[in-house]
Amino acid sequence: MKIALYPGTFDPITFGHIDIAVRASKIFHKVVAVVAENPGKKPLFSISERLEMVKEAFSEIPEIQVESYSGLMVNCLNDFGATVLIRGLRALSDFDYEFQMAFTNRNLRSTAETVFLMPSSRYIYLNSTIVKQIAKLGGDISSFVPKYVMQKVHKKFNNEICN
Ligand code: ADP
Repeated sequence: MKIALYPGTFDPITFGHIDIAVRASKIFHKVVAVVAENPGKKPLFSISERLEMVKEAFSEIPEIQVESYSGLMVNCLNDFGATVLIRGLRALSDFDYEFQMAFTNRNLRSTAETVFLMPSSRYIYLNSTIVKQIAKLGGDISSFVPKYVMQKVHKKFNNEICN
């Protein structure tokens, strides 16, 4: 059984994340979406809030399991019996950082492979930071995140727009 991990901060989960996880689930028998604690990024949502939103996003896809993790991803690979890390590649901006991460993980564990997937062109400029910036200013984020995520983001910013 080929298992892949899809790690991320998911602060919050967007249609871009979902696009990548669904593509991965068609290639691997099982995909574990791993919500990383990542305190260095000072996430807007707590780990349990992020976990809940990611679980909701994949609730109808049995091939995608959702877990949280606070350690090294190469150790997480072992815990789930996986050898593959899935990462999404957007425009050029992701490339350098993702290359560094992939080689670092391979140096830490020689069997760790990183597989990069490209999202639908609609999502190549979408990231969680943009979603938060738009929402903070009271803008419409309905085309970037699922409805329940949109409501939670607006609530965080005390926005009244909660369709
Ligand atoms: P991290 O802090 O690990 O970068 P993110 O939640 O920002 O966590 O992203 C997790 C993964 O999802 C990364 O590989 C990132 O490139 C990918 N990703 C996020 N948004 C998109 C998107 N719109 N299209 C493709 N991949 C994406």
